[in-house]
Amino acid sequence: MTPPFLPRPDVALREGYHSPQVDVDVRLNTNESPFPPPASFLEDLAAEVARVAWHRYPDRAARDLRARIADLHGVAADQVFVANGSNEVLQTLSLTYAGPGRTVAVFEPTYAMHSQIARVAGSEVALGGRAPDLSLDLDEVRRVVEASSPAITYVCSPNNPTGMVETEDNVRAVLDLAPGLVVVDEAYAQFAPWSALALLADDRPLVVTRTFSKTWSMAAARLGYLIAPSWVVAELEKVVLPYHLDAFKQAAGRLALDHVADMERRVAELVEERGRVSAALAELPVEVWPSSANFVLFRPQTRDGADVWRDLLADSVLVRDCSSWPGLDGCLRVTIGTPHEDDRFLDALRKALA
Ligand code: PMP
Repeated sequence: MTPPFLPRPDVALREGYHSPQVDVDVRLNTNESPFPPPASFLEDLAAEVARVAWHRYPDRAARDLRARIADLHGVAADQVFVANGSNEVLQTLSLTYAGPGRTVAVFEPTYAMHSQIARVAGSEVALGGRAPDLSLDLDEVRRVVEASSPAITYVCSPNNPTGMVETEDNVRAVLDLAPGLVVVDEAYAQFAPWSALALLADDRPLVVTRTFSKTWSMAAARLGYLIAPSWVVAELEKVVLPYHLDAFKQAAGRLALDHVADMERRVAELVEERGRVSAALAELPVEVWPSSANFVLFRPQTRDGADVWRDLLADSVLVRDCSSWPGLDGCLRVTIGTPHEDDRFLDALRKALA
């Protein structure tokens, strides 16, 4: 049926962002944690839910949660903005600092939502490429920012889907080159050797975004945040919807922060497991990128990536098919799971490549 009324023409022309949710034994396609949160977290959360004043709106400024996040990072609470997943954090940044008549710069291949959110917010997107090894190419950054004067320039570190971390020198260089905000998306920072949080300063237009979805084992809750100078946070608060963060989620975030040691232990286990999976991949006819995240990008050399993806799925192993993404011909991305899940993946891959 032809719809009787159409959306904005730029929205009508767009395709949505999809990662297939398929029922499989081994789900290694969306970079979640393979471990549930600690049992004591769930008990504390259940007790907290009974205490929520459900007939009242939640604390609009999420003061307790922001104070706890600020303590974790040694910053002030007015430097913290929280929202429903880091995707909503990125969306609020785009609505506030980009939008119609402004440009957002991204360097592909990178997290596809950076450009998707920018376009839906009405911004132009200046697309830059990367070096052949998929690292950030500073000459390309210079070319793109000089040509488009972006209001927001994205750096993703570690980058999704390559897993590669940006060096401090590169982030400093982007800050020197870019005329607007530099947003460093650190969804996977806990798996990486350094964080751009070290570069935060009140007179520097640097924003660092984080999520509870990966290392905090809380993808179901949808909670993310950014750390930035307080003058950025004050503007975002004007744009975000009132009471956008419900009381349940605020409590879940606060209670998760009581379990930092648990989280760090799980991160260490995943980093070790990442080493094991990367070493096993190196024995196979695949090209492997060095990862500082909880996933690994690889390209089968003897078969088409999309065919391998289908074979893995037939063995009930779901990985991310990146084979048609810009600059990633034939590539697949696998999330690090439990040792058992990773063995299932490696067995299925060996079979597909035999
Ligand atoms: N940034 C990056 C780089 C990601 O890979 C993801 C999740 N795929 C997100 C942000 C969004 O995470 P969430 O909305 O779950 O916080």
